[in-house]
Amino acid sequence: MINVYHHGGDEFIIIIQCTNITYIKELAAAIIKRIQEPYSINGIEIWITTSIGISFYPHHTHDITDLIKFADTAMYYAKLDGKNTYKFFNEELEWKIERKSRLESELRKALINKELHMFYQPKFQLDSFEIVGMEALIRWEHPELGLISPTEFIPIAEETGLIIDIGKWVIHEVLRQMRTWQDQGYPCMRVSVNVSSRQFRDKDLVQTIRSGLVIFHIDPNLFEIEITESEIADTELTIPILKSLKEIGVSISIDDFGTGYSSLNVLKDLPIDTIKINQSFVRDLLEHPKENLLVMAILEIGNILGLKVVAEGIETEKQLQHLLMLNCRIGQGYYFSKPIKVNEFESKFPKATTSELSLIRA
Ligand code: C2E
Ligand code: MG
Ligand code: MG
Repeated sequence: MINVYHHGGDEFIIIIQCTNITYIKELAAAIIKRIQEPYSINGIEIWITTSIGISFYPHHTHDITDLIKFADTAMYYAKLDGKNTYKFFNEELEWKIERKSRLESELRKALINKELHMFYQPKFQLDSFEIVGMEALIRWEHPELGLISPTEFIPIAEETGLIIDIGKWVIHEVLRQMRTWQDQGYPCMRVSVNVSSRQFRDKDLVQTIRSGLVIFHIDPNLFEIEITESEIADTELTIPILKSLKEIGVSISIDDFGTGYSSLNVLKDLPIDTIKINQSFVRDLLEHPKENLLVMAILEIGNILGLKVVAEGIETEKQLQHLLMLNCRIGQGYYFSKPIKVNEFESKFPKATTSELSLIRA
């Protein structure tokens, strides 16, 4: 027997008494196929996507609330998989949820417990190995869970809104570090900070940067923010923020360029200074002609619009030589240096040698 219930909004619950997995799979696929067909309303074609999550009683739980929650989780992953698909709840998903909720609650304490640190990855002039700047990258060192990657916890910080406080801390911490380096006699280096979507939309962002620059007495031109293409997709909202940042004198860089949807038309109107070629293109540069062409196209776009172009994720000598041949001037990647702690930076790149910092390769 099949019962269908409206759960709320665009969500429905189907309860089936059945142990035949093949039948359940076929049913889920049939529902998706049927709903996928276009509907014509007043001559307009409407397309609907379906995502289905499936959980089992009593295998997963005896509790009805949990049963729904597990199906909901599986549905969430079906959506992430590109919609029009179904997913069974399983232990891996359960582990992911447990980990996520643990990280969520631990992240609330991370700032107070001083578990967050900044690492710095130098950016190099590719032909001279001179350091032309640094990217600040956050690290979370949890006493029990160990080192947690920002790719895992930044999305959680975004979802929970914790990114606002974390982002403020990052800006403050990086400006403080820049002041220390300048006081120690390091040549002035531009340092970039990654700013994620919710943080970028925070009404305090511009003021946080402005006041930080004053407190630590940093030339605004030496401070850079990195935002991804998708974050600036809503140009009506984002162009005024970018303009305010530009008015203060802050540099702006588009991160992971080539993975979003910036049209050239939009790009030409953005008050930006730099585009960073996404590391996936650099990785596949030598093996795949398409990636090679894309890198060439991005370099050309930079050239036409008068923007600096930085290649991310350079890992090999071959990649470096190829980028040099394509006339790419600036880059960063493990080939030169991984992101490193402040003290590692200071011992790897002693300030005394010359007025310029450069990497001495054996
Ligand atoms: P991103 O800004 O695109 O940073 C580049 C990522 O690539 C960094 O990972 C860096 O460690 C890594 N990387 C650098 N060179 C290489 C290389 O040669 N090969 C490979 N395979 N990887 C390389 P990380 O530090 O794990 O950061 C991941 C992402 O997390 C960043 O991507 C950025 O979007 C976000 N993130 C990091 N720190 C912050 C932060 O302070 N605030 C915000 N909002 N986001 C941050
Ligand atoms: Mg970045
Ligand atoms: Mg990037």
